Amino acid sequence: NGSQGHIAHAEATASDGGHALSEVVPKKKKVVLLGTGWAGMSFLKSLNNPTYEVEVVSPRNFFVFTPLLPSVTCGKVEARSIAEPIRNIIRKKNVDISFSEAECVKIDPQNKKIYCRATIDSHSKGEEEFAVDYDYLIIAVGAQVNTFNTPGVMENCHFLKEIDDAQKIRKNVIESFEKACLPSLSDEERKKILHFVIVGGGPTGVEFAAELHDFVNEDVVKLYPKVKDLVKITLLEATDHILNMFDKRITNFAENKFGREGIDVKLGSMVTGINENEISTKARGNGKTTSTPYGMVLWSTGIGPRPLIKEFMKQIGQGNRRALATDEWLRVEGFDSIYALGDCATINQRKVTEDIAEIFKKADKDNSGTLTVKEFQETLNDICERYPQVELYLKNKQKRNIVDLVKEAKGDAAKESMELNIEEFKAALSEVDSQMKNLPATAQVANQQGAYLAKCFNRMEECEKNPEGPPRFRGTGRHRFHPFRYRHLGQFAPLGGEQTAAQLPGDWVSIGHSSQWLWYSVYASKQVSWRTRALVVSDWLRRFIFGRDTSG
Ligand code: FAD
Ligand code: MG
Ligand code: MG
Ligand code: MG
Ligand code: MG
Repeated sequence: NGSQGHIAHAEATASDGGHALSEVVPKKKKVVLLGTGWAGMSFLKSLNNPTYEVEVVSPRNFFVFTPLLPSVTCGKVEARSIAEPIRNIIRKKNVDISFSEAECVKIDPQNKKIYCRATIDSHSKGEEEFAVDYDYLIIAVGAQVNTFNTPGVMENCHFLKEIDDAQKIRKNVIESFEKACLPSLSDEERKKILHFVIVGGGPTGVEFAAELHDFVNEDVVKLYPKVKDLVKITLLEATDHILNMFDKRITNFAENKFGREGIDVKLGSMVTGINENEISTKARGNGKTTSTPYGMVLWSTGIGPRPLIKEFMKQIGQGNRRALATDEWLRVEGFDSIYALGDCATINQRKVTEDIAEIFKKADKDNSGTLTVKEFQETLNDICERYPQVELYLKNKQKRNIVDLVKEAKGDAAKESMELNIEEFKAALSEVDSQMKNLPATAQVANQQGAYLAKCFNRMEECEKNPEGPPRFRGTGRHRFHPFRYRHLGQFAPLGGEQTAAQLPGDWVSIGHSSQWLWYSVYASKQVSWRTRALVVSDWLRRFIFGRDTSG
C-alpha cells in the first residue's frame, strides 16, 4: 500500500458550512526519526522538503562528534566542544521539526506506532510514557558496546561510546595519578593503580592508548614526576594484529611505534574475565592463562544491537541477525515505510548469482536468448549500480573490459561467436559475489546514509508521481531513486606524538606529522557547526600553549 494514505486530506466537514474549499490543506506526512547521532543528524541537516512534519525522539538532545571522543579522555579537547544541541540544528530548518527527549522502547509496525519512555526525571508517573504515530519511521539508534558475555566486564570496565564515558575516563585517569601520589602507598600498589589496560586493538583502543601515552609524556612527567616511571599501558588484542582493518604498512608502523614507546601490545590475547583487581587473559597460541593486577580497563572490542533493535528483529523474523537488514534503499526488509541506517542496520546486498535470470532478461533487449558484447556492455552500468560487487570485481581482477570476461566464460567457443547464452553469462559473473562485503559501522557510512535518505525524502513526492520500473532495477530511471552507494573517503588512525596514519582511497597511505595536520584540518572542517568548530580549534590551541587541564 506504498504511497496510499500518506497524502490524506483534511476533511472539510459539511457542518463547516460557510468555509471555502480553499481551506482544505493536505495533511503533512509524519516522519518519526529515532536517534540524534551521526545518521539522524545528517538526515535532519539535509532534509529540506517542508511537506513533512518530523518528530525526533532520542534520549540525548545533542549530537556528538564521536571521532574526537578519544581526545576528550585525556583533556586535549573539552567534552562540550564536541556536542551540538539538536535544537540548534532544527531551529535553522524550513521543515516543521519537533524533538522529544525520550527513548523508543517498542515499535509496532502493524499500527504504525512507536512507544516511548521519557528519560527526563518526571514526578508524575503517567507522563513518562507516550506513543507516537508515524507515516514513515526512520530508525537511527546506533549500537551499544559488546562485552561478548565476558564475566566482570560490565561491572569493572570503562567504555568509550558517549560523552559521559569520555568524561568518566578523564576523571578516572587524573584520579589515578593523584591516588598514586598519596604517601601511604607502596610502590607495588602505585604500579597497580597506574596500570592502564586497553582491550581491543581497533581504532578507538589504539587512539586511547596513544592519547594516554602522550598525556604521560607531555604532562604527567612535569606534574607527577614522582610516579611517572611507574606508569604502564597494556593493549590486549585477540587477533594477530592491531588496526587490522587498515593497510599492513599502518599496522606495522603502529605496532613498532608502540613497541618503542613502551606500550605493551599483547597480540593473540583473549580476555576471559575481569574482577575488581585483576584481568585474566588466555594466550591464543599455547592457551596459557595469566592474571594481571590493573588500575583501569577500557573495553573497546566492538558493538552489538541495542535491546530495542533485538526485540524488533525478533518481531519481524530477523531474530538471528546482528543488525537490522534493509534493502539498498535503506528500507527495512518487508516494510515500505520503515527505514534503518547507521550502526543499527546493515544493507542486505543482493547476490548477482541469485538474480542472474532477471539480469539476463533485462540485458537481452532484443529477446534473442543470447547477449552480444554490446548488450552486455550497455547494461553494465545498471548492473554495477545495483550490484556494487561487479564494479569491485572488475577493478580488483584487472579485468576491466567485458571482452575478457566473455572470452573467459566461453573458452574455445569464443572463436566462433562472442554471444553469451544464459549459462555462459552466469559463468562470466560467477565469481563477482565473492567481492561482497558489509559496510563498516562508521560515522562516514552513517553520515552518507542520512544525507542519502533525506534526498530520497526531499524527492519522494516527485518520485511517487512517476511510475517505477521493475523493482529490481528501480534505480535506473531519471526520476527514480538510486540505491544507496557508499563513497569511501579514507580513514585516519591517530597514533600519538602528533603523528597520524592516513589511508586514503586508492591505497594511498601516509604516516607521520604531515598527516597529523591533514587530520586537524579534516576534523575541523567536518564539525557540524561553526560554534563547535571554533571550540574544538581553540581547545587544540590551548593544549599546545598551556598543556592539558588536569583538574579532576
Ligand atoms: P549513533 O551516532 O550512536 O547515534 C545513535 C543515536 O540514537 C544517539 O543519539 C542515541 O542517543 C539514540 N538512541 C539510542 N537508543 C535510542 C532509543 N531507544 N530510541 C531513540 N533514540 C535512541 N567513525 C568514523 O567514521 N570515524 C571515526 O574516526 C570514528 N571514531 C569513533 C570514535 C569513538 C570513540 C566511537 C565510539 C565511534 C567512532 N566512530 C567513528 C563510529 C561512529 O561514531 C559510529 O559509526 C556512528 O556514530 C554511527 O552513527 P549512528 O547514527 O548509527 O549511531
Ligand atoms: Mg543517529
Ligand atoms: Mg554520534
Ligand atoms: Mg550499518
Ligand atoms: Mg540479445
